Amino acid sequence: MSAALELAGLRTVLDTPEGELRAVDGVDLEIAKGECFALVGESGCGKSMTALSILRLLPDVGRIAGGSVRLGGLDLLALPEAAMRAVRGKRAAMIFQEPGTALNPVLTVGRQVAEVIERHTSLRGPAVRRRTLELLRSVGVPEAERRMGEYAFQLSGGQRQRVMIAAALAVDPEVLIADEPTTALDVTIQAQILDLLAKLQAERGMALLLITHDLGIVARMADRVAVMYAGEIVEVAPREQFFRAPQHPYSQKLFAALPGAAQRDGSLAQIPGQVPPLTTEFGGCRFTERCDFAFERCAREVPQLRTLEPGHRVRCHLRETERAAPRAASRAAPAAAAAAGARRLLDVKDLKVHFPIRRGVFRRTVGYVKAVDGVSLAVAEGRTLALVGESGSGKTTVGKAILQLIRPSAGSVRYQGEELTRLGRAGLQRYRAAMQIVFQDPYASLNPRMRVADILAEGMRSLGVGRDDAERARRIGVLLDQVGLPASATSRYPHEFSGGQRQRIAIARALAVEPKLIVCDEPTSALDVSVQAQILNLLKSLQERLGLAYLFITHNLAVVEYLAHEVAVMNEGRIVEQGPAGEVLRAPRHPYTRTLLAAVPKVD
Ligand code: SF4
Repeated sequence: MSAALELAGLRTVLDTPEGELRAVDGVDLEIAKGECFALVGESGCGKSMTALSILRLLPDVGRIAGGSVRLGGLDLLALPEAAMRAVRGKRAAMIFQEPGTALNPVLTVGRQVAEVIERHTSLRGPAVRRRTLELLRSVGVPEAERRMGEYAFQLSGGQRQRVMIAAALAVDPEVLIADEPTTALDVTIQAQILDLLAKLQAERGMALLLITHDLGIVARMADRVAVMYAGEIVEVAPREQFFRAPQHPYSQKLFAALPGAAQRDGSLAQIPGQVPPLTTEFGGCRFTERCDFAFERCAREVPQLRTLEPGHRVRCHLRETERAAPRAASRAAPAAAAAAGARRLLDVKDLKVHFPIRRGVFRRTVGYVKAVDGVSLAVAEGRTLALVGESGSGKTTVGKAILQLIRPSAGSVRYQGEELTRLGRAGLQRYRAAMQIVFQDPYASLNPRMRVADILAEGMRSLGVGRDDAERARRIGVLLDQVGLPASATSRYPHEFSGGQRQRIAIARALAVEPKLIVCDEPTSALDVSVQAQILNLLKSLQERLGLAYLFITHNLAVVEYLAHEVAVMNEGRIVEQGPAGEVLRAPRHPYTRTLLAAVPKVD
């Protein structure tokens, strides 16, 4: 197969106040016509910068410092900007993670696709309209004729991504770059979009550069895989070889950090530390600080990308002499959960949250949105109930209604036998400490103007935990230790921490008031897989040590397999199936649960 896209020694730098940041540092890759090539790695490793460099769409502070990018033999870096504009959209197109921001809010979606056609083809007038309609239909936009006249905000996330794909494919590009195209989507919509991309790619013989952090998606889509770390490629291999026996210690860690049923009885592998700052002049392997196998040579000699076998190249000194064994394929059966005997902490019966729809000058109620419509569930001491479902299914509303942050319209919420729905503000105050919540985005939930010590002390003070400030200060020291943060963290502000560290602060804040139950609302979905592993390990060990109960709201079924004892599946405000996690995930009974499970891309 001939190469559709070739990168040789590509170097991209960003000029920052800290100095020259080498975001892409000598990347070589080659993608054949009709091939799907996946670029994986954690955030900040240079994946997106590589994509933006190919299309010369760098931010103002960015510039290409060396190397070459060839599209079907054409040297893109040598083209004047006007010629490059003709290439973008016509010969190479890109779709992004968040189609909502990539689409123009003031133009109808039909016009946006039509503009691409007009710019790059000779079609005009009714022919443009016909082609637009044809494209929107080919990517599966329902009622395409009507949708053409609508704006991006009137479409769902999945439909917006379809429009983006239609615009990208308007002129039959040779290369399509998809940067995390399904990260913002629900799992069933994700499956539809991935199928669509695979189908279009096969039909058109297009090369697809797929940028993702999700190894399940790679397993489903890619012909070949490259792993990026700290601006360079550390491993490149055909899919089967990569999944059978990844050779670079970083690739291996990415697999080991993935949650799943096999890890239930232990903890997930963690990658200690962080990606080193890319302003560093590296004199050795960039992974040295985080590598379990690092030896003396690693710090003083830069490893080269060497061929292990045809098509499989690795950047690691260890692999010059030995090969790692294949990944163990079998997964241990999860241990039976010790449900019997655990005391009921929370009992929810027929919970309803209906929001009124008001219309007209007098804001008369004309109907109700039934966000939660008759949910019953129970959580026992020291146990984890996972509440799973897609966005809009009502999971978060259930969590908030249990904590009485939203007052339910009907139903009962009992905490240790006490009915919470009848309590007023003062009555609820007694239970505020017992039930805490940890949100998805720790940055938004922590006051940026408060130091960590004050954030942790605030809740304790208002809920009367600790006799005096001295005792509270002692407790803060213990809390920080429990969540794995240094004592020096007390005097720092949230912005001084990484995403994972901020989530640790949020967990410490919840623990500060000695809760029995924590509602965890997607606490790891904004985190990279290695940081997610750290937080999941932390939550698990805290549960074991402190006997905490979790209501774990998530859309990630791998996390459920790893952490949950019981699972309840929500769809359109109702629970459609619930039971022991192993049973529900292994043998789902409800068609919706089956659809949800079938849609998850699996690494195995
Ligand atoms: Fe680890 Fe050394 Fe290999 Fe780098 S070169 S990945 S530090 S063993």
